[in-house]
Amino acid sequence: MNHLDEIRARINIEDLVGGYVQLKKAGRNLKGLCPFHNDTRPSFMVSPEKGIGYCFACNTGGDIFKFIQLVEKVDFPGAVRILADRAGVRLPEFKPEVHNEKLRILKANEAATDFFADHLKNSKKGMAYFTGRGLTEATIKEFKLGLAPDSYTALSDHLQKADFDEKLLLDAGLISQRTIADKNTYDRFRNRYTFPIHDQQGNAVGFGGRIIGSGEPKYLNSPDTPVYNKSFVLYGLPLAKDAIKKEDLAIFVEGYMDVIAAHQAGTKNVVATSGTALTAPQLKLIKRYTRNIAFAFDADSAGAEATKRAIELAQEAELNIRIIQIPEGKDPDECIQKNPEAWKEAVKKAVKVMDFYFAHAFLLYDSKDLEGKKAILNMLLPLIKQTSTSMEQNEHLKRLAYELKTDAKYLWEDLKKFKIQDFRFKNSPREPAEGAAPKKEVFSREEFLLGFILEQPELYEIVQANLIDIAGFDPATEKIYKTIKRVYNSRSVIDIAELRAELSDQECERLNILPLLIEEYYPDFSQEAAKKEVMTLIRQINRKNVHASQKEFEFKIRAAQDPGERTLLLNQYSQILKLTSKI
Ligand SMILES: [Zn+2]
Repeated sequence: MNHLDEIRARINIEDLVGGYVQLKKAGRNLKGLCPFHNDTRPSFMVSPEKGIGYCFACNTGGDIFKFIQLVEKVDFPGAVRILADRAGVRLPEFKPEVHNEKLRILKANEAATDFFADHLKNSKKGMAYFTGRGLTEATIKEFKLGLAPDSYTALSDHLQKADFDEKLLLDAGLISQRTIADKNTYDRFRNRYTFPIHDQQGNAVGFGGRIIGSGEPKYLNSPDTPVYNKSFVLYGLPLAKDAIKKEDLAIFVEGYMDVIAAHQAGTKNVVATSGTALTAPQLKLIKRYTRNIAFAFDADSAGAEATKRAIELAQEAELNIRIIQIPEGKDPDECIQKNPEAWKEAVKKAVKVMDFYFAHAFLLYDSKDLEGKKAILNMLLPLIKQTSTSMEQNEHLKRLAYELKTDAKYLWEDLKKFKIQDFRFKNSPREPAEGAAPKKEVFSREEFLLGFILEQPELYEIVQANLIDIAGFDPATEKIYKTIKRVYNSRSVIDIAELRAELSDQECERLNILPLLIEEYYPDFSQEAAKKEVMTLIRQINRKNVHASQKEFEFKIRAAQDPGERTLLLNQYSQILKLTSKI
C-alpha cells in the first residue's frame, strides 16, 4: 500500500466534507450546501461508496485530495500533506518513480532534439529545404527544427551511449518494437524533418516528423506517452503565450509550418493542434491566456469542414470566435511566403462566425437557381435560429433576403419551421429550484450514457448491441468509451481498475463523476427505467451521428473534384443512407 492509499483508507469523504458543511442523508448518498458556490438548496452530493463529493450545480468536487485542494486552495502535494497530517501517515521523501520516469523521458526528448538539430545543421540539403520555404536560420534555431537521418539505429545508438536505456526510449516513443514477438527495436523517426513539440512550460514532449522527399505517411507523430497526450498539447504555445496574452487573441492554424511562418512574419500569437483535430482540453488550455480565438485553417473544403467543427467546439467552450480567411495560397504558410502583408491584413479583417457560414453557403451552392437557394436556406436558417437573439436574427435574415433577392418576411416564415434541436441536455435536465446557480457545465448525451454504463456495467450489452459505430463519440468521452469497449471485448466484463490503468488522470476523474451524474439526475431509477433511458439515449446519439455523417458526405461529394473520389464517396454515402432506415 502506498501512502496515498493509506491516507484514503484512513479518511472517508463524508467525515472530511462533514467538517466543512453539514451533511444529511439522501438515499445512499449524503447532501449538503455546496461550499464552492452560493448554494440555497443542498447541492453538494457525497458518495461514501465512491469516495467522492461533487456539486452538479457548479460542477466542482472530487475525491478527498481534490476536495482539500479546492476548499483549502492548495496544490496536490499541499493537499497530500494536510491529509497525511490528519490521518497520521508519515510521508516518504518525495521521490516517486513515476515522477522520475517522466523527467527521464523529457531528458531523452531533449537529447533527441539536439541530435536532430545537429544533423540538420550538417545537412546542406536539409538546411536548403527550410530556407527554401522562407525560414531564416534564427527561426530554425528558435523552433529547434531538425533532421532524423535515414537510419534504423542512429538515434537509438546515440541515446543509449548517453545512458538512456532501451525501455525508456520505448516509453518515450522515440523507438518502436517491430512486433510484440520480435523484440528488435528501430528508430521511429527516420529520413524525416523533425518538429519538436513542447508543452506550455517548454518541455519537449514529443515530435512531429515530415518525410524527406515523398513517401507515406507524410507526417508522423510521437505516440501518446507518459509526458505527451495529443489532446492536451498545442504546438507553439510556449513561444506564443506571451503574445497571446498581449494581443488578447489566439490564432489556431493547422500545421507546424503555418505556426513557424506566421511567427517569423511577426504574428506570434499562433498555435496549432498536432496529430489530432481540435479538442475541448486544448480550448480549456488556451482559456488560461485569452477568451478570444481565431481560426485560420486551410482554404479548401477539408479546412472549411474543420472550421465548422472547431466553431461548434469553441461555442460550447464559450469563447469569442473569429474566422481568418486566407486570401492567397492554400494555407497561412503559403500565403505568408507569397505575400506577408496580405496575411496580416487577413488577420485584421477576421470575420464573425455567421459571416463565415454565409460565405461558405454561397460558395457551396448557386444562389441564382431555386435548388441552390433552398440549399442555402437549409444550411443557414437553423444556424440563424440557434445562435442569435431575435435582433440578430432580424439582421441576418435581412442580409439573407438581400443576397437571395427575396423578401425577408418569407424567410421569417421559413425560420419558424425549423425546430431547434432537442437541447434537453444542454439546458440540463433539472434546473435548481431557486437561487442564482452559477453557470452549469453541459453534459452531453454521451456522458449520460457513459454514466449509466459505469453505474450499471451490465447495461453495456445494450449499448454494444444498439449503438451504431459511425461518427464516434464527442471528443471529451471518446477515449473512455473506446477503452471500455476494448476491455469489454477482451474480458466480457468492465473492469474499472483496468480502465483506470489506461486513462489519464483527468479521464479517471470523469470515471468517478459520471456515475454520480446518474445518481443526481435519476435519484430513484429502477433497472427497467434505466434500460429504457439508455435505449432512448442510444437512439438519439445514433440519429445525431448518422445525420451528421450524412451531411458530411453530402458536403464532401459536392466538394469532390476528382470523379474517382466522387464515386468512392457516393458508395460510402449509400451505406449511410441504409443506416438512416434503421434509426
Ligand atoms: Zn456548487
